[in-house]
Amino acid sequence: MRGIRDPRLVPIAEKVMAGERLSFAEGLVLYETKDLPTLMRLANLVRERKHGHKTYFVHSIRVSQTNICYVGCTFCAFQRRFGEEGAWDWDVEEVVAWVKARYQEGLTEIHLTAGHHPKRPFQYYLDLVRALKENFPGVQVKAWTAAEIHHFSKIARLSYQEVLLALKEAGLDAMPGGGAEIFAERVRKRIARAKVSAEGWLEVHRTAHELGIPTNATMLYGHIETLEERLDHMERLRRLQDETGGFMSFIPLAFQPDGNQLARELGKKEFTTGLDDLRNLAIARLYLDNFPHIKGYWATLTPELAQVSLDWGVTDIDGTLIEERIVHMAGSPTPKGLTKEALAGIIRSAGRIPVERDALYREVRVWDQVEA
Ligand code: SF4
Repeated sequence: MRGIRDPRLVPIAEKVMAGERLSFAEGLVLYETKDLPTLMRLANLVRERKHGHKTYFVHSIRVSQTNICYVGCTFCAFQRRFGEEGAWDWDVEEVVAWVKARYQEGLTEIHLTAGHHPKRPFQYYLDLVRALKENFPGVQVKAWTAAEIHHFSKIARLSYQEVLLALKEAGLDAMPGGGAEIFAERVRKRIARAKVSAEGWLEVHRTAHELGIPTNATMLYGHIETLEERLDHMERLRRLQDETGGFMSFIPLAFQPDGNQLARELGKKEFTTGLDDLRNLAIARLYLDNFPHIKGYWATLTPELAQVSLDWGVTDIDGTLIEERIVHMAGSPTPKGLTKEALAGIIRSAGRIPVERDALYREVRVWDQVEA
């Protein structure tokens, strides 16, 4: 590869071109280098080797059945206590009615994540999956983070395996990747003390993969973590993926500094910079060589940066969302949803091929022509 300005990237580029795995030390060089054009070209090389110009999105709806939560993560602006202003807590019928009111033709995915409700029994969650599958046949249910699965296992006094098996039998198709935050103990203690541990998160995903439930993985960055801790996070994911092969995508999520305790503690008002976001995505693409997709989640990146990210290793920009709430309650200034046409247009005008997928990354439609 010609034109490499940082000599430390020469052996890394050789490894990437040969399809060899990068070491932890090499990952840190990628975080340090000022030679961003080379970083971009390497990430793009891997994305095109894996998927050519194809770029995926999904027609999905986001649902949070409650924002009542007892966990108290300091970065979270979504959680509420019982009776607090803005709190909601829906029965199964209310969730179904909410989705019905917003249902759009061709919807393929219902994505459920919510707070850890202290009183709902595990049966409620089984009933909820079953009701969604009955009312919206053909729609896949991607539901509940590893943190929520851990919560269910505590309230039901069941193992992760028993919880996941019961949810799978009720109709669960896939799991989102939230709750991972940053695995390092130092950070977790400060931002998510009462949430599932790093080991617990990984064990839930290991169990899901063993049961044939594919999952995603996230990383919440841009707060108090070091670059080593970001890389350690990816290292642990890469190891689990070597074991199970059950992850579909990795989604870095930038910290949203609005309306939460952590932002107040840190006196933080700014979002991560676009360059930090792009660098992080490119490193994820290079380091997580065994992950099929790196997702540039447009709702936190902004649609504009998500479009640029397609040159930085990203092969998926998530979905229509319809009415996203979690990152928007933390101040994300992006729209709450985008149409399929808009998503396909964003991808197409970046010179890539828009591919509508389902929750399991099966192709639904290649958008050869984008309607206005
Ligand atoms: S991030 Fe999730 S678990 Fe943590 S406080 Fe917010 S809703 Fe609760």
